Amino acid sequence: MSDARHRRSRDVAGEDARRGGRERRTDGEGTPSPVPAKREIVRLLNETDDSAVLALFARADRVRRKCVGDAVHLRALIEFSNHCRRNCLYCGLRRSNGKAVRYRMTVDEILAAASEAAAMGFRTVVLQSGEDPGYAVEDLCGLVRNIKTGTGMAVTLSIGERSRDDYGRLKEAGADRYLLRFETSDPLLFRKLKPDSVYEERFRCLRWLSELGYQVGSGNMVGLPGQSEESLADDILLFRELDLDMIGLGPFIAHPDTPLRGSPDGTIDRVLRVTALARIVTGNAHMPATTATGTIDPRGREKALQCGANVLMPNVTPQRYREHYLIYPGKICIAEEPARCRFDAETMVSSLGRTIGRDAGDSLKRPDRRTGKRPSPGEDPPGGHTAPRES
Ligand code: SF4
Repeated sequence: MSDARHRRSRDVAGEDARRGGRERRTDGEGTPSPVPAKREIVRLLNETDDSAVLALFARADRVRRKCVGDAVHLRALIEFSNHCRRNCLYCGLRRSNGKAVRYRMTVDEILAAASEAAAMGFRTVVLQSGEDPGYAVEDLCGLVRNIKTGTGMAVTLSIGERSRDDYGRLKEAGADRYLLRFETSDPLLFRKLKPDSVYEERFRCLRWLSELGYQVGSGNMVGLPGQSEESLADDILLFRELDLDMIGLGPFIAHPDTPLRGSPDGTIDRVLRVTALARIVTGNAHMPATTATGTIDPRGREKALQCGANVLMPNVTPQRYREHYLIYPGKICIAEEPARCRFDAETMVSSLGRTIGRDAGDSLKRPDRRTGKRPSPGEDPPGGHTAPRES
């Protein structure tokens, strides 16, 4: 692709972000938060002085405390189908992976797992799958409606690219949030790694979701083969430009049954730096310490919680299915019962001197669902804090 066309693709992402985005985020005091320039982000990604890296992590932790508070929100994750129509090069669920043991939970099974999560005290359920055409949108709408009326939990969907009409119907059925990672902001790398996806479509979907009133999450993968520091810096700045409510990021981990087998994995150091920079740049977005981060380092999630993250997503997928949802190999939390996963998350949070969020942990960028009130500076909104910028 020519440089000019490369730039045009990037512009499409930015333009979609601006059109779908809400008002420009400020620090809550009406002045824009200081955003490190791209060259400064690249410098920090390459920093070799350990004390400077620790200072970066400490700064991100301060920003996290001031912008979203000490509460860690627990989201119950149900991975309900590992069928996928796509063929992303890095993913164990890709349709060409004949070794994957495929499953598709019934709507009743998903509802039962969600009800179990609500009984355990979760206030949010995340319904995640590959891009599976095996569920009619009416069935998914009925599922969302039943979860909302039966449990009162907030519902987050992570089911890939769909039509605007589908997104609209699911929103009307009661879905609150939607996760759709762009994985990389580099259009060339995107097309290489996601050969049957269209870069511009991804960002169009994110714009639609925002326009439809979803709390929108996106994110990237860190350590992808061919990913440069400049590209990671662009990802981080795009998080801000998209004005995301939620940001999920984790390491690339090579799956042996994909074309990227044998490629070097992303490192915990790089993931933590991107986590810290994303927190500093975006302020009050919700950011999970992801399972993939805990997979490359046994203390990866604790470390992420200490440099910007404020969410954990314990896996409550029924055990007989869980081992088959393998986007990457070696995934942790495969064998534990759902209640054990929640207990472990609670133990981790209290060991860090943090608290468990008592509410649904809605976006801090939007008005409260019940009161219509937007969190204001110095006020403790449900689920967290907006606060003046880092001193
Ligand atoms: S990354 Fe998502 S869309 Fe791509 S193959 Fe895996 S599950 Fe499917």
